[in-house]
Amino acid sequence: MEAVATRNILKELEGIVGEKRVRADEVVRWTYAIEDFAGSFFHPLSDKYGPPDIVVKPHSAEEVSKILILANKYKFPIIPRGAGSDMTGAVTPLKKTGGIILDMTDMNRVLHLQEGLNAARVQPGIRWGELHHELAKSGVTIGCKGPHGFLGATLGGGMTWWAFSLDQQGHSE
Ligand SMILES: Cc1cc2nc3c(=O)[nH]c(=O)nc-3n(C[C@H](O)[C@H](O)[C@H](O)COP(=O)(O)OP(=O)(O)OC[C@H]3O[C@@H](n4cnc5c(N)ncnc54)[C@H](O)[C@@H]3O)c2cc1C
Repeated sequence: MEAVATRNILKELEGIVGEKRVRADEVVRWTYAIEDFAGSFFHPLSDKYGPPDIVVKPHSAEEVSKILILANKYKFPIIPRGAGSDMTGAVTPLKKTGGIILDMTDMNRVLHLQEGLNAARVQPGIRWGELHHELAKSGVTIGCKGPHGFLGATLGGGMTWWAFSLDQQGHSE
């Protein structure tokens, strides 16, 4: 993204989530250029992938909504990210477009557990490990450990990844 546009967007993002939850410094940007798996470590070194311009950590659906309205206003790409473990480059920005990483991992609460039905409403950035831990307090177990027992992955990331996989196989409907 253009430097001027990035500065304007940065200011507006700070207005939405506060200064501490928006970062555009080199160390953080390059950290998010790497997915959380050795196989994807070289993405940022390829011609295709690069670091994000900005990383933002929303805490609520309302903040996410405001950020998406901003993305439409300035026409910049948004890349939601959970644990960054999907291995396909899906959470690493394209070098030619850049973009903003929406790090969902602070939206990690169990909002409601309906006793008896064993139904829970959770935020999408919750990790499988956190979910197990929180539900265990009420004596509930999930019966599944998450993708390949990978407790660091988030629920939102898994759902999107699975939807993407089904779509690739032509089974999205
Ligand atoms: C060792 C290993 C084993 C694995 N085993 C399996 C397996 O057995 N079964 C299986 O299905 N998968 C498996 N995977 C892939 C797995 O699905 C993903 O690693 C994991 O579920 C993705 O979760 P994540 O939080 O890391 O998502 P990320 O990698 O952060 O994101 C994955 C996708 O979801 C999008 N996304 C993330 N959060 C959100 C959100 N809140 N809202 C909208 N979009 C979002 C991202 O933009 C990206 O497109 C494995 C991966 C590894 C590294």
